[in-house]
Amino acid sequence: MVREPVIKGGDEPEEDFSGGGGWDSSFLADDAEYDDALRPQRLSEVVGQRQVVERLQVILDATRKRNEPLGHLLLDGPPGLGKTTLASVLPKELGTELQITSGPSLSAPKDLLPYLTNASHGSFLFIDEIHRLPATVEEFIYPAMEDFRVDITLGEGINARTVNMKLQKFTLIGATTRSGMLTAPLRDRFVRREHLDFYEDHELVEIVRRNSKKLRTEISDVAAFEIARRSRGTPRKANNLLRWARDFATSKADGKITNDVVTRAFEMLEIDLLGLERQDRRYLETLVKTFSGGPAGVQALGHSLNIPADTLEDEVEPFLLRCGFIQRSPRGRIVTLAALEHLKLTLPDAGRLFR
Ligand code: ADP
Repeated sequence: MVREPVIKGGDEPEEDFSGGGGWDSSFLADDAEYDDALRPQRLSEVVGQRQVVERLQVILDATRKRNEPLGHLLLDGPPGLGKTTLASVLPKELGTELQITSGPSLSAPKDLLPYLTNASHGSFLFIDEIHRLPATVEEFIYPAMEDFRVDITLGEGINARTVNMKLQKFTLIGATTRSGMLTAPLRDRFVRREHLDFYEDHELVEIVRRNSKKLRTEISDVAAFEIARRSRGTPRKANNLLRWARDFATSKADGKITNDVVTRAFEMLEIDLLGLERQDRRYLETLVKTFSGGPAGVQALGHSLNIPADTLEDEVEPFLLRCGFIQRSPRGRIVTLAALEHLKLTLPDAGRLFR
């Protein structure tokens, strides 16, 4: 039987960086319900990431044949590339349960304990943003991952004693946008580690086509491509842009997503042909105008933009690096000539940056 996730975590308060000249993390807010509605339900519906999917098929097959729990799995990659999707598809493939929580919502071992004791044989526990687990929780999870037991301290001072509690054999799936921030002992306890990479345009076209079908919206081939190429290699972005184009088509046209509809819809969003948004332009303009093109440290950039450095590193820089619009150097970020050309910015003595 395929059971839906039984516990949803993430009760951490959302930080708001949108006000007072602050950060507008996306023109289109992520919508968990919309995300869930479009999320692939089976591995066969997962588009792209072919090698990762093939390796997961092998582990699934072996797990089924041996009737043993799957080994702990770490998924890493930028946001919106399918980590939660894969984590929710695997239990469905095996007909087992999934519990979901996240690093920031587990502030002490007692927060994690119910998830561990609830886990049935062969079930899955998904911890999103696992790099943000506090050290005490991380240490508590080691014996759970390795020996399927937890060590609980009862009492205090000289009366304190530790009791071991046996757990059912479960599978931990950890997701992280920052595998570099994971401690070696935690990383080493994962049996398999898979890295998700940005998607090719043709894969995003397929996602857009499938999802417009799910949304019962007609879309032309050219419009699907125009959405895909502005999606920054990211399925979640493609879904959000599709949603915007669909709203625009309903409001300003006859409901069909045509090339003309997407052109006008993206003009209104200020998204350019490469998918650069206002926040990307602000980042690059700040790097050029405030820091003379760089090198600038991410903390200093974050300060000038009034955006947490973490958000820049997770949500802005991976795409700019991929476009070749910034370079990382030991002394900080440097703008590239390609970025200056794309944004039609001038920088006196730009050559100095690359000497
Ligand atoms: P992450 O957990 O890495 O931030 P998600 O798994 O939540 O990303 O993906 C965001 C959305 O993108 C999902 O709801 C799903 O609709 C879509 N998506 C992600 N990966 C794929 C994929 N490989 N094939 C089809 N859709 C995908």
